[in-house]
Amino acid sequence: MSDSVDCVVIGAGVVGLACGAALAAAGHEVLVLEKAGLIGSETSSRNSEVIHAGIYYRPGSLKARLCRSGKERLYDYCHSRGVPHQRLGKLIVAPDDAQRERLVAIKAAALANDVSDLEWISGSEVAQLEPEIIAKLGLFSPSTGIVDSHALMLALEGDLATCGGMVVLNAPVIGAVCEKDAILLSIGGEDPMQLRARTVVNAAGLYAPTLAQEFKGLSSAHVPEAHYAIGHYYRLSGSHPFRHLVYPVPEEGGLGIHLTLDLGGQAKFGPDVRWITQPLYDFDDARFAQFVAAIQSYYPGLDSSRLHPDYTGIRPKLAGPGGGEQDFRIEGPAVHGVPGLVNLFGIESPGLTASLAIGEFVEALLRR
Ligand SMILES: Cc1cc2nc3c(=O)[nH]c(=O)nc-3n(C[C@H](O)[C@H](O)[C@H](O)COP(=O)(O)OP(=O)(O)OC[C@H]3O[C@@H](n4cnc5c(N)ncnc54)[C@H](O)[C@@H]3O)c2cc1C
Repeated sequence: MSDSVDCVVIGAGVVGLACGAALAAAGHEVLVLEKAGLIGSETSSRNSEVIHAGIYYRPGSLKARLCRSGKERLYDYCHSRGVPHQRLGKLIVAPDDAQRERLVAIKAAALANDVSDLEWISGSEVAQLEPEIIAKLGLFSPSTGIVDSHALMLALEGDLATCGGMVVLNAPVIGAVCEKDAILLSIGGEDPMQLRARTVVNAAGLYAPTLAQEFKGLSSAHVPEAHYAIGHYYRLSGSHPFRHLVYPVPEEGGLGIHLTLDLGGQAKFGPDVRWITQPLYDFDDARFAQFVAAIQSYYPGLDSSRLHPDYTGIRPKLAGPGGGEQDFRIEGPAVHGVPGLVNLFGIESPGLTASLAIGEFVEALLRR
């Protein structure tokens, strides 16, 4: 015997919660199953909390489209639901002329992505905006901001509940059988059970590919290999002069070690990019010197004794080192042939910014 439900979302990160809220608002009976004892305990609470403008991504990609539409949806949502956020603006800075071409390419990519508000700023204008930052040239993105990701997730959980949905904690999904008109889920934990769902959204983040391997009836051809790239953050203790986010030009696998501010006004730097084989969050301080050097390339006055290890986050990658930028993979029945199933793979940055747009996209894929 097994219970049945209309729709199950696996994973209560920001993306799973946004999918759950969108599906519940569209009239589905939704359960969000979360293996941990609280919502948002993985990537959704281990990131830069930046609302990205949608600059860097390949034009036409899901990342580009969902970031741009998600950004506006997110600002509106935060405003209407009282989620703390700030449209601080961001500087992308080049310390020397050698990186001018990279900035030109970034501006062109932004325009190709319909992000038309990037402004060129000279070194002296950078100094006016951020006196401690040294740059030869820069770009200013006025629509970049920050958001309290936990408050956002609580608001989404509230929306889900308002529409009759529910998050079930300590409910790890350990396997599934894809049947003709439903998916039979096996749930482990202290109270193992089976649950039959007409539709299932696999939003398990770092674990989405390994979980999808356990779906009998889903061809392995539609399950990517999981790769992981960890990033470390250092907190700057004490007061600081910064009022904007400050980014170097991007590096492979990430956006470069940048300065972000949180809503409490605290400054932090990160994340770097290191490839790992298992998703473990251990903080490795061994590259502190490289970290300091990267920051000092644009903030030479950094007092490194004020930098302290803070936290790590892990990017769910779809290719390893040298594999290039990969798009989000959001795959419904039209791609893999399993009725009622949507897999979300590689939801790295800008997944937080795009979360509401991803929720709507998934709801549309499952529309009856
Ligand atoms: C270092 C870093 C910095 C980033 N910075 C930004 C940024 O500034 N702006 C931005 O827009 N994006 C950023 N991102 C990306 C953003 O954080 C993610 O795209 C987003 O949080 C992904 O949310 P998620 O819900 O898919 O995954 P997660 O938050 O990882 O949620 C997945 C959930 O699934 C649960 N789960 C896993 N397996 C199972 C199972 N078998 N059964 C039940 N539950 C399960 C997990 O416990 C987890 O709660 C960053 C990412 C990283 C790593």
